[in-house]
Amino acid sequence: MAQNPKPVIFCDFDGTITEIDVTDQILSELAHPSWREVEQEWVRGTIGSRECLERQMALVKASERELNALVDAIPVDSSFAGFYDFVEKRGIPFFILSDGFHSVIRRVLRKAGLGGPLASGRRVFASTLEWDAGFLRIQFPFANPGCRHGCATCKLALMKKLESRRWKIFIGDGLSDRFAAERADLVYAKGHLLAYCRDRGLKARPFENFTEVQEDLEKRFAPRPARRRLTSRRVLAAS
Ligand SMILES: [Mg+2]
Ligand SMILES: [Zn+2]
Repeated sequence: MAQNPKPVIFCDFDGTITEIDVTDQILSELAHPSWREVEQEWVRGTIGSRECLERQMALVKASERELNALVDAIPVDSSFAGFYDFVEKRGIPFFILSDGFHSVIRRVLRKAGLGGPLASGRRVFASTLEWDAGFLRIQFPFANPGCRHGCATCKLALMKKLESRRWKIFIGDGLSDRFAAERADLVYAKGHLLAYCRDRGLKARPFENFTEVQEDLEKRFAPRPARRRLTSRRVLAAS
């Protein structure tokens, strides 16, 4: 890291903090199977993630209880809580940017034992899902009218806006992360995002879990040992 700039972390939620994609799980369990056709339109790039999510969620038939039961069974990367603790102690601003749903993300984080500004939702930027007389209502408060990709949550616009002067670290796993990842200073990637970065020759560090991200960040942030101490240790080791 050149000149030791102050970092900020932007992190995807589904498939990155959770082990499976919550929206995909909602759709495969509770939606009409034609959601997969809509998904293909998105993968082909014919529609943006906002239109994709809007049309897919309209195919969901479920009660609030069914949806909550599904959300409560979503596994979180077991190393995430320790990683978040590390980030807090280092005073690194941490934001979740997600096409998924604010209330769902908060519920998953609380269930995983996370409190603070993350579980309260203040640092979570996502779509919203509300129950209105037994019907699901979906909104996109962080869609950006100027975005040509049609994102449900425009991660790139948020990344430019939040802590814009800091050195940007992006962590993600999916295609909805690609535009933000292209503009970050350091990318940790897995899954489709890693494949996308490799295809385009974008630098990305592969990761499987947050322990690996933490170890790598600890190395980057480690104060350089003084030369003299290193030398004396080497002398001791040699004697
Ligand atoms: Mg994801
Ligand atoms: Zn966008």
